[in-house]
Amino acid sequence: MSRFLSNEAAALAPYTPGEQPQDQQYIKLNTNESPFPPSPKVIKAISRAELLKLNLYSDPTCSALHAAIADYYGLKPENVLAGNGSDEVLAFAFRAFCGGGRGVAYADITYGFYKAQAALFGLSAKMIPLREDFTLNVDDYMDFPGTIFIANPNAPTGMSVPRADIQRLLEANPNRVVVVDEAYVDFGGESCVPMIFRYDNLLVIQTMSKSRQLAGGRLGFALGHPDLIADLNRVKYSFNPYNVNRLSMAAGAAAMADTAYFDACCAAVRQTRAWTVGELENLGFTVLPSSANFIFAKSQRIPGGELYRRLKENGILVRWFDADRIRDYVRITIGSMEQMEALVDQIGQLLEAL
Ligand SMILES: *Cc1c(COP(=O)(O)O)cnc(C)c1O
Repeated sequence: MSRFLSNEAAALAPYTPGEQPQDQQYIKLNTNESPFPPSPKVIKAISRAELLKLNLYSDPTCSALHAAIADYYGLKPENVLAGNGSDEVLAFAFRAFCGGGRGVAYADITYGFYKAQAALFGLSAKMIPLREDFTLNVDDYMDFPGTIFIANPNAPTGMSVPRADIQRLLEANPNRVVVVDEAYVDFGGESCVPMIFRYDNLLVIQTMSKSRQLAGGRLGFALGHPDLIADLNRVKYSFNPYNVNRLSMAAGAAAMADTAYFDACCAAVRQTRAWTVGELENLGFTVLPSSANFIFAKSQRIPGGELYRRLKENGILVRWFDADRIRDYVRITIGSMEQMEALVDQIGQLLEAL
């Protein structure tokens, strides 16, 4: 660190992204990307004509993209705000709704970015432990007066909270925002989007990184009451008005419109997930019930850290968190059927050699 770094910045605890090694070809099951390429319609949308317009700024109102997202969900464009990945949209929400002593609450085991963002914006943060079995008890949040962030389905567990539970939270205190991060909702779990019309304190955040084959395009979006969206826009226009670039804008609109491709990819992931869970259970693993495009699994026979390292030596990347309560587990992204066959095969060999 330089001698110029501020004390505030020195105190940050930056999020550690999953490895993106450039040195060798791994079977990459560590960052929950889609194993499928973008829809052919997305490829077509990145036209030469669009490339030739890169000298011009992108549309700061994201009108075509917002319209495509609104269309898909039966919402109005004023219910939508797109961002440079949902990480950026989450940042807008942290900035907009958690300051002034209101604070923020989230689970002890959840998406690591919440903690990093809360620190970045100097917010008071309360971590509320999940139950022993990693389910989330909404009753633990009932009295919290500040903003609540819930990843549903949760990461890295893959487990989901029923919509009725979120509804109880929304009703318990209408003067508090509940942010539901639905990064994985397209693989199972109940979306809260239908409740947007009823509750003006509900903000749903989704991403095109996991279920829409656009992790590298960096596209996420918030869905909510127009007043909440207007608040997010205040933050956006104070930070980065052209937050979605021209090519991603075109890609995102095309991805939202290609529902057939989207449905087929999600169905394939769910099918491959069921197969993988069965195979790992046959190998003696405990696998948490997953509504996501990854599974969280542990073996009595090999510690999580060792399994992670041995798989990496053999060209397969999974994610391991060296953290209390989850150290025994590895998180495995559901890839293509061929990738999962290679994984199961490799794990079988590792266990046999023990
Ligand atoms: C991956 C992920 C995100 C962020 O995705 P972006 O690529 O920034 O859109 C947000 N929340 C959760 C829970 C995630 O797992």
